[in-house]
Amino acid sequence: MAEQSKHSADKSDQQFDIVVIGGGMAGLAFTAALADSAVSILVVDRLSQPAPSEWPESFDPRVSALSLASENLLKHVGAWPLMASQRVSPYQKMHVWDGEGTGQVDFANTEVETEHLGHIVENRVTQWALYQKVLNQENATFVTASLANLRQGIGGWQVTLDNGEQYHPDLLVGADGAQSQVRNKAGFQVRAWPYEHTAIVTTVKTSLPHEGVARQIFLETGPLAFLPLQGSVNSGDGTDQHYCSIVWSLQADTAQEIEALGDRDFKQRLGAAFEHSLGDIVETDLRYSFPLIQRHCTHYIQPGLALIGDAAHTIHPLAGQGINLGFLDAAVLAEEVASSVAKGLNPGQRLGLRRYERRRKSHNLLTMGAMEGFKRAFEPLNWLLTMARNEGMNQFNRHYLAKRQVVSHAMGLAGDLPKIVKNG
Ligand SMILES: Cc1cc2nc3c(=O)[nH]c(=O)nc-3n(C[C@H](O)[C@H](O)[C@H](O)COP(=O)(O)OP(=O)(O)OC[C@H]3O[C@@H](n4cnc5c(N)ncnc54)[C@H](O)[C@@H]3O)c2cc1C
Repeated sequence: MAEQSKHSADKSDQQFDIVVIGGGMAGLAFTAALADSAVSILVVDRLSQPAPSEWPESFDPRVSALSLASENLLKHVGAWPLMASQRVSPYQKMHVWDGEGTGQVDFANTEVETEHLGHIVENRVTQWALYQKVLNQENATFVTASLANLRQGIGGWQVTLDNGEQYHPDLLVGADGAQSQVRNKAGFQVRAWPYEHTAIVTTVKTSLPHEGVARQIFLETGPLAFLPLQGSVNSGDGTDQHYCSIVWSLQADTAQEIEALGDRDFKQRLGAAFEHSLGDIVETDLRYSFPLIQRHCTHYIQPGLALIGDAAHTIHPLAGQGINLGFLDAAVLAEEVASSVAKGLNPGQRLGLRRYERRRKSHNLLTMGAMEGFKRAFEPLNWLLTMARNEGMNQFNRHYLAKRQVVSHAMGLAGDLPKIVKNG
């Protein structure tokens, strides 16, 4: 644990054992998972966190398909009931098909004996619920500020914020997202390769109900997902099944063309691309676009420093795994830190950080490799290969055990799991 004398010359009055830069979903989950640990934590985020009363009426265009493992973590830290009090949308089935042929794969909750396969949740709901937990957490403090400077000295990292405050934590956590300043300023090596895809996201209303099914079609131009949302925006009564959040991954030039369309043409293009599987697109909200880049840090740790979530890796959204991997990073790092602290050791102790890196890097790389394989498998091919792909999908769809294994991986319930994710 940090010795008091080490901090006496600092500009800030109070010092913390752990400083987390980035109060997004990963940084907040890490902090909340340490609520019962004997460490003091400062969470720094450049943005203030809006309350539900300040949210626009429409759905948040950014949603995540949360796995069962993520749900377990969010239940463990007490955020889930707050999320459920807003809006979470369970889905029981997944239907994936090849737009260039007849191949299809279906997954159902009954195949894995669970109530649902996961939930579609607006990012602002998860973020707000975790923020409430952290605000009420005795060992945590939240400050709205940006990271200004980072220096490594003999005694560890010196963190300077843009409000002039300086900190010397035993452990610095970089949870500041895909453009991480912690990662860049600390000189982590990153392997980055653009997917040459841009994701267009928005909320749409369809003429047919989604019936709790998450759907994804693989097109020559990239995957298009319709993620089922529950409840009409005004009533929130959970009965309206006509809203979906869409993630349409497109090659950059096609994305530009689609972005420029007026609403009427956009609805037509989208409906046709989705083979009118949910009838017509009757309403559409504002569109946002995100260039997709896969990044992976060669290392997640340095002495006294760990990266988690998108700061350490970003992945194609086609399997909806980004924050699910980030939550597992947060839970494993919290588990290692709690274990070091319980033994009377420093929270940034080297062996604990090394175990964190070992446990998470292999799992993240495996998932990223699988997603890259998927993306490549659906790139434009000749007709013979397309036929083989379709036949492969149909055979897989008939293979109960193989499907069960894939679903349990997608639910985050495979591999070296932290206790709080297993137990809920
Ligand atoms: C189109 C799209 C669809 C997606 N769909 C899914 C899905 O279905 N399922 C899924 O699991 N994932 C999905 N993802 C990925 C998911 O959104 C990200 O993995 C997740 O948001 C990353 O969370 P994070 O907390 O690591 O980073 P972020 O959410 O980026 O949070 C970083 C935080 O750090 C703060 N910050 C940044 N820089 C500084 C600084 N210098 N000083 C102080 N604060 C700073 C920011 O304000 C922010 O609050 C999707 C992504 C995209 C683009």
